Amino acid sequence: MNTTTTRGSVATAAEQDSHVADAWHELLDDASSELVALLRELADTAPPALAEHFYSGMLGDPRASRFLSSDQVQSRLKPSMLRWISSLLTSGPEDVTTQIAAQRLVGDVHARIGIPVDLVIRGTRMLKHELYRHVITIAPPELASAAIAMVSDLFDLALEMMSHAYSVARERSTRLDASYRMFSLIQNVGTERERQRALLLDWENTLLYRFASAPRDGSRAPLLAQSEFGLWFNHKGMPSFGDTAETRQVAALIASIDQLGAASDAKAGMSMLPAIREQLAQVRSLIGMLFDNIGALEAGRDALTSLLNRRFLPTVLRREVALASETSGGFAVLLLDLDHFKAINDAHGHDGGDRSLQHVAANLAQHTRSSDYLFRFGGEEFVMVLGSVNAEQACAIANELLERIAASPVKLSDGTQVPVTASIGVAVYDGHPDYERILARADAAMYQAKRNGRNRVELATDKMVEPPGARLLSTR
Ligand code: GH3
Ligand code: MG
Ligand code: MG
Repeated sequence: MNTTTTRGSVATAAEQDSHVADAWHELLDDASSELVALLRELADTAPPALAEHFYSGMLGDPRASRFLSSDQVQSRLKPSMLRWISSLLTSGPEDVTTQIAAQRLVGDVHARIGIPVDLVIRGTRMLKHELYRHVITIAPPELASAAIAMVSDLFDLALEMMSHAYSVARERSTRLDASYRMFSLIQNVGTERERQRALLLDWENTLLYRFASAPRDGSRAPLLAQSEFGLWFNHKGMPSFGDTAETRQVAALIASIDQLGAASDAKAGMSMLPAIREQLAQVRSLIGMLFDNIGALEAGRDALTSLLNRRFLPTVLRREVALASETSGGFAVLLLDLDHFKAINDAHGHDGGDRSLQHVAANLAQHTRSSDYLFRFGGEEFVMVLGSVNAEQACAIANELLERIAASPVKLSDGTQVPVTASIGVAVYDGHPDYERILARADAAMYQAKRNGRNRVELATDKMVEPPGARLLSTR
């Protein structure tokens, strides 16, 4: 993911890496051997008190405590923060590339969790401050100010990298959130498009008829804004398409058309008609463009199985984490991997494999509550996000799914029946704000289910080791 390029004001990862690497090397090149030795001493002696200081300072703020108070975070963050400080203070020129990558990773985690940037800056300020105090107690006076400047520069470089990664990740997730919003609001783009087109024509005909038949009861022409199309646009179209130049133009055209149509009598109305029709044509063309844009979102569904594409998984998990932490409710992630799927491909060809995937996907979809989410996660892997469940309920659902899969062999076109089974890892929200953790835990549990013989469910425990190269979302 370090090759990500972004639009707008954020530098590309490569530009940013090289800029920070140059500055970092320069800083290290200028450091005397006494200074390097002093920073090592600082790294060896300062950290334990730092962590205490950091926590007592940050937990006083309710906004910060939302991210830091869970046991999961404290038990992991403390040692990893101390390691981070220590390696920052002691890394040499040969470590710069690794350091840069490490800061990026921290920035990614902050973005996933959604920690506000000001809290990160406050945290590093507090750590710096504490380190300065410690420098003064251990450094000879002639070295103290150089050491403080060095600590400050190192932290700033780290912060610069983190913030860059943070901005890139946030920009990406904002775009994804936005496309997910459109995706979820307009379920059937093709049908909706035709319907709105027809409604717009209906309205035009009604207006025309009214002007032509010249009612004498003083009643006014129907307003486009109040028509079924106008109401749809206001309530659903605008939020779905988002705030774009096109949506604003449509809103302005609707207002303008209604002003023209409010003519006092039929004769005046008729004279306005060409202008009204011209503007309606513009509305039609703009709405067509907006629908074209979201048509691309059909890609939000996996082409083979029609399940949700995994690129929307971060959006869904982030929302579930937020919901669970606000309501102290829970949710669960099921990671399901088909057993010996290679053998199915080998025996029945890739088409037979594809057919099996579709069959299992349909089976799963049929047994998903409407509040749950079902994703195709990878080749023959699926992820289910279950809202408002505890561990027991999640495992019961997982076991039920296994039974249904095993009880429903795939029927191939030549009449062959192919039995399928799956292994499921279950992980329940444990208070950790980083949604990748729950996914990694479900992954570990799924591997455990494989090791324990397949066609079974395992619940993630603290002791489970994540498989090497766990499929972290941010790497996609
Ligand atoms: P295990 O029980 O350990 O999961 O065994 P497995 O054979 O399922 O092993 P693994 O998960 O490593 O292999 C998955 C296979 O699924 C590999 C790949 O050929 C196949 N596969 C992945 N995506 C697709 C797909 O879209 N269509 C088909 N037909 N096969 C796929
Ligand atoms: Mg697999
Ligand atoms: Mg498999």
